[in-house]
Amino acid sequence: MIRIPFGYPMIGENERNAVLDVLQGATLVHGPKATEFEQAFAQFTAAPYAVSVSSCTAGMHLVYFSLGYGPGDEVIVPAQTHIATAHAVELTGARPVFVDAEPESGNIDIDQIEAMITSRTRAIAVVHYLGVPVDMPAVVEIARRHNLFLLEDCALSLGAKVDGIHTGLHGDVGVFSFYPVKHITTAEGGMIILRDGELAAKLKLKKAFGVDRTHGERKVPGVYDTVTLGFNYRMSEIHAAIGIEQVKKLPGFLAQRAKNHQALSEALTDVPRLRVLPAPMNRLLSSHYCLSVVLGDDLAPLRPEILTALAERGIGASVYYPQPVPRMTYYREKYGYEASRFPHAARISDASIALPVGPHLNTNDMVEIASNLKDIIKGEY
Ligand SMILES: *Cc1c(COP(=O)(O)O)cnc(C)c1O
Repeated sequence: MIRIPFGYPMIGENERNAVLDVLQGATLVHGPKATEFEQAFAQFTAAPYAVSVSSCTAGMHLVYFSLGYGPGDEVIVPAQTHIATAHAVELTGARPVFVDAEPESGNIDIDQIEAMITSRTRAIAVVHYLGVPVDMPAVVEIARRHNLFLLEDCALSLGAKVDGIHTGLHGDVGVFSFYPVKHITTAEGGMIILRDGELAAKLKLKKAFGVDRTHGERKVPGVYDTVTLGFNYRMSEIHAAIGIEQVKKLPGFLAQRAKNHQALSEALTDVPRLRVLPAPMNRLLSSHYCLSVVLGDDLAPLRPEILTALAERGIGASVYYPQPVPRMTYYREKYGYEASRFPHAARISDASIALPVGPHLNTNDMVEIASNLKDIIKGEY
């Protein structure tokens, strides 16, 4: 039995009532809840525009699709990320060009970006790995100099800031996920934040079939036109109603995450053969998605046994992410995999363990995680 799960949705009475309220009415899509959630999210992040979508993956695909990317185009993508960061590019027919991680944070190695830019490059994507923000001014400078679009995959970085500005607002767009284990959840869902009103309008059009009038705007039923190609990537009123309640709780969630992370990292500082990935709280402000430890060379081959032992003791650990994306079968078979290009992403994939710090847990749980982990690896040296 897992007593300390890696993630657990913090759904309470407010969320349940909000969902029931929506279900009492007749408006399940195209209603006020999605708009209200967008406004609340824009207020929390201080974003000029927010566009709700059905998932982070849908949001990233919608952005690239709306920009007209296709075969022959390239987007620079971190090797150490969720498969969705690359799939969103690949789905348009464009090619993701992978860049290794920096060993300290696991974030994209900014120094290697420029060498990967070609005449085909259209955009740079970054992911704020485990909620530790990428040092954005340096990436913004490269993107500007080469006239490239800049997408921030913010699926793990809700609450994370660079120089006091929320992640997602440094580049051209930031895309968030509300999958159950993320900082807040709507079961499935996503949000795009941006400063460009024209692009925001385009995204809204293309997330709903390219139809030029929403239901509310149709004075005469059936009178609307389709001006462009589009998807159905909308968020329903049911999902949005949950999101509105979750945003209200977000400051509390973030405070508990920071507290848990600090407690766990203190409890693990003196453990040999473990390196705790740092979670800065300075000009780079982490959102503390989890606490990741990288096992030393002698322990790394024992990771499966360590993960199993943790589970047997009721602790749900995870691995972020189990493979550098270019090593995943789909990408390896399509583009080939040069191991020598991704040593740091591979090291983190193969030797790290992600420990939970979510708001479903408290500092006593952190003490328990640390003492169990120490106990398990003690037998190994
Ligand atoms: C979870 C995650 C995604 C996918 O989010 P969905 O909302 O499930 O599409 C994308 N990128 C990163 C970095 C993630 O962790």
